[in-house]
Amino acid sequence: MSTAFYFHPVCIDHDPGSMHPECPDRLRAVAKALEGEEFKELDRREPPKATLEQLDRAHDSDYVRSVLDNVPTEGLVYLDGDTAMSPASGEAALRAAGGICAAVDAVVSGKVQNAFCAHRPPGHHAERAQGMGFCLFNNVAVAAYHARVVHGLKRVAVVDFDVHHGNGTQHTFYDDPALFFGSSHQWPAYPGTGMVEERGVEDDRGASTNCNVPLAPDSGSREFRAAWQDILLPTLLDFAPDLIIVSAGFDAHERDPLANLNVQTEDYSWVTREIMNVADECCAGKLVSNLEGGYDLGALAASVTVHVKALMSDSSLY
Ligand SMILES: [Zn+2]
Repeated sequence: MSTAFYFHPVCIDHDPGSMHPECPDRLRAVAKALEGEEFKELDRREPPKATLEQLDRAHDSDYVRSVLDNVPTEGLVYLDGDTAMSPASGEAALRAAGGICAAVDAVVSGKVQNAFCAHRPPGHHAERAQGMGFCLFNNVAVAAYHARVVHGLKRVAVVDFDVHHGNGTQHTFYDDPALFFGSSHQWPAYPGTGMVEERGVEDDRGASTNCNVPLAPDSGSREFRAAWQDILLPTLLDFAPDLIIVSAGFDAHERDPLANLNVQTEDYSWVTREIMNVADECCAGKLVSNLEGGYDLGALAASVTVHVKALMSDSSLY
């Protein structure tokens, strides 16, 4: 079965200001990387705009309306010191959240095996009632609730290998025993959450549903792979999700300017295949991946390339 690819040019037009690391060129680099002959089998789909009903499952409705009502007609409006909206940001944020819900529809219904959503703005820092860290709406959280409410899935997992802790996703899921969040991230680093002790509630088998693996600055491939091999993948397998959603940030890469880990391009191929193997065991390979961070344009393009190549591969061959 095929891999779906969700992308819309309005997500390039979202522009949080000159010199901002979360820049339009990020998505240009990703789109260009996936243009080549080796990606001609991708099932390219247009992301629809999210509905208010979809957004309200993961956010306070007042917050959602406040964001959408305050999109500027010119210039920038700031949600916090480093999170800004430009005139295109409203539609971009709606398509980012709506696109991943459409990806869930396509994967859960069996039309495609898995999906990669290349959207901006990213989402994993967005809290229920607060945008932060370049994020407006928490796309993966919106998608997890969509999977549960619309498709009746019982257990949904989000795993996050962005170098920054996905505080918004963790907090949104924290008291829900049927939503799992697992993350590797640099610590200490922005946003300051993500300690091992933050374990969430226990599920019906008495197991924790929140799993953080902080990595010390200067950690590289060995520590990154050990975090997933020894802790995150077995914990995810034990949770036995009906769908796996990936917060795919590529800013743990050694060339990334915003953090201090030394993950290599090929580590993203490896971790993708390992998460796919868990998906094969738990949920017939159902997996939806969503772009988060990654701020060195060359490293981002190379990492997305190996990530999507892995998604398109037959995981039974590994
Ligand atoms: Zn990040």
